[in-house]
Amino acid sequence: MTKKPEILLIYTGGTIGMVKDYKSNALKAFNFNHLYKNIPELKQLECAIETISFDKPIDSSNMNVNYWIDILKIIERYYSEKDGFVVLTGSDTMAYTSSALSFMIENLTKPVIFTGSQLPIGDLRTDAKENLITAIQIASARNDKDEAIVTEVGLYFEYKLYRANRTTKINAEQFEAFTSANYPPIAESGVHLKFNTSFLLKSNTTKKTLFRKKLNENIVVLKLFPSITKQVVQGILEIPDLKGVILETYGSGNAPTEDWFIRLLRKAVDRGIYIVDVTQCIGGSVIFGQYETSIQLKQVGLINGKDITTESAIAKMMYLLGENSNKIDFKKYFENPLRGEMN
Ligand code: ASP
Repeated sequence: MTKKPEILLIYTGGTIGMVKDYKSNALKAFNFNHLYKNIPELKQLECAIETISFDKPIDSSNMNVNYWIDILKIIERYYSEKDGFVVLTGSDTMAYTSSALSFMIENLTKPVIFTGSQLPIGDLRTDAKENLITAIQIASARNDKDEAIVTEVGLYFEYKLYRANRTTKINAEQFEAFTSANYPPIAESGVHLKFNTSFLLKSNTTKKTLFRKKLNENIVVLKLFPSITKQVVQGILEIPDLKGVILETYGSGNAPTEDWFIRLLRKAVDRGIYIVDVTQCIGGSVIFGQYETSIQLKQVGLINGKDITTESAIAKMMYLLGENSNKIDFKKYFENPLRGEMN
């Protein structure tokens, strides 16, 4: 590339965009149009940065499918023009949003890097500057053949770039707020920025990049706990218009073997509701049939979520329901990796 890579920085809200007014001690939204003035270090990066901000930046607790589509539309609008994208959101729901975007873009050929921070950008001890600067560096990184190194949706936080749809927020106060228990970091930032190339998704540049905007939100997460009652399970499985359930089970996908429980699951599956078995554990995988307590789940027709995170399972389910796949395809697509989200 003879010209500098062009990066689009999309600000949706969250702590990263705040500055402290030291007189009043209050946090105020930071004007991203004045990025270079506030972070002069950015001038040293070998790229050109354009910024675009939500009209009304949001705390990521208010994130929803409509905002995901807004982010997607911005990326789509600038896709041919820009070489990479950095999306800033609050960290609270970043794992969900970045997972969703990974499914919503098919045949991605450019980097889309999410980041945020635990402390506002204007705070003396902020983690925002490092996260932002390195995320931009990652989005502009190119190999010897002048191709983008990362061609997937990533999440960069505290010196590590993860595959976004493998992440979970695990800490509300430490700078190391995210983990990816079932997949190694795809890049690490130390003295050098090191890409773990063998773990990166390969892109197929001959295929057209598609932007999928249909998502179905009629789903629920049902987390099991010892002594969960029939009334609760029945109430959830009989929600009107329910299309899918992420069933958070124990260990390697185990659930109670009580008759009432299995009967309710069977009834829901027979009514056409997709139920995916995911583990409550941060790491590891569902293995149907490893214990007696998961054999029946398989027999009832549950889908094996394997080592997918709950965040990613939610995004994948909304996406596949939106695509209106038939029953057989839904199961096949869910049980196989679409964007590197499971092994
Ligand atoms: N509550 C904030 C948010 O998720 C926290 C953060 O920005 O990290 O928007």
